[in-house]
Amino acid sequence: MAIIVQKYGGSSVADVARLKQVADRVMRTRREGHGLVVVVSAMGDTTDDLLHLARQVSPNPDRRELDMLLTAGERIAMALLSMAIRELGGDAVSFTGSQSGIITNDRHADARIIEVRPVRVQDELARGKIVVIAGYQGMSYKREVTTLGRGGSDTTAVAMAAALGADYCEICSDVDGVYTADPRVVPAARRIGTLSYEETQELAESGAKVLNAQAVEFAKEKGIAIYARATKGPLPGADPSSDGTVVRQHPPRMPGTVVGVASEKDVIVISAERTGDSDAEGASGSALALLDVLDRHRVSGKQLHVADGALALVVSRENLHEEARVREALASRFGGAVRIADTLGATSVVGAGINASFENVRRGSAALSAAGIETSGIATSSFRITWMIDRSRIDDAVRLLHRTFLEGQAPAVP
Ligand code: ADP
Ligand code: ASP
Ligand code: MG
Repeated sequence: MAIIVQKYGGSSVADVARLKQVADRVMRTRREGHGLVVVVSAMGDTTDDLLHLARQVSPNPDRRELDMLLTAGERIAMALLSMAIRELGGDAVSFTGSQSGIITNDRHADARIIEVRPVRVQDELARGKIVVIAGYQGMSYKREVTTLGRGGSDTTAVAMAAALGADYCEICSDVDGVYTADPRVVPAARRIGTLSYEETQELAESGAKVLNAQAVEFAKEKGIAIYARATKGPLPGADPSSDGTVVRQHPPRMPGTVVGVASEKDVIVISAERTGDSDAEGASGSALALLDVLDRHRVSGKQLHVADGALALVVSRENLHEEARVREALASRFGGAVRIADTLGATSVVGAGINASFENVRRGSAALSAAGIETSGIATSSFRITWMIDRSRIDDAVRLLHRTFLEGQAPAVP
């Protein structure tokens, strides 16, 4: 029997009425004769609420205890969903991440999955059960409870699909696929029919919340097709690519085609001058010392740039839970040589080969400058151009870049 993995996000199970609708969708899928594993996120804003609670108790909550707390959100959702399915006559059983055999490293609050041993899931599937799994969590090889970073239920679903050899993995949300920009910000955004793993990963890493970057990385590694679609939409029927967005191996588009615009507001930018004490280690010595402090506090950054010993780095706040402690550590080690900017955001355009020449950088920069939006930094990769700008102008910039690169022309993105 073909196995499919479905994942339902927090907004899809935000209240009891919606949870029951999900149970109904699960039952309709089941009646089509599939073996079914359902991964569920915490209800609505539960994870944010739990984080808020933790911060009221401690400004630097211990990461292990944080994981104990945060995993409760998905545990509530899995039990309630399982009950709701049973109420409709389905034979469901719920499992936590550790019961499902999701083994991670020991990096609390943004752990990586290193192995999945889904023995219990397979046993229950063989008994004909619908298996409901708490997303976003696992157990480290030290037998500690861990979470996978914000948005990590997508990763649970893809990892489970890979381990079970599922036909495909369906990510069901409040939006019916991946759009050329966040449809809440850009009314003219269009749904993208097919995306490659690389394009999707880059969009996700640039802040498009709809799919988690680590989940896409996992799907790419294991060759799992992801179908992003709306929880409210019809069932896909025999052809799972009939609606939503399919993420899979995709033949290259015309090089230079922009597929989407994404942004991230909740970031800090760390910059450091070269300090005098680094001569023995060479020009990058102080920069490396700073990275060492960040690593010891388990802070991961992006767009690292080191030149002549000076460093600039963007850190997403999403999985940064001990900011006060990190700031203290940096101040006591480096004093005034390290600055932290908390007014900027990042806006990116994404597409394979968009930096073959500087045309796209020039075009985007000219549009921003004509609109009076000042750029404080630009970073590029072969798939992405990122402009660092004032946080308050991010939504304007996203709409502008979408207009510049994706509107007023025949859709280059099918
Ligand atoms: P879930 O709770 O189902 O995991 P998320 O809130 O994590 O859902 O992600 C869905 C949201 O992502 C949408 O409501 C939408 O506003 C936002 N989003 C951001 N960028 C995009 C994009 N490019 N395409 C679609 N949705 C996007
Ligand atoms: N509940 C977790 C979060 O809010 C995981 C997820 O939704 O995927 O980040
Ligand atoms: Mg999500």
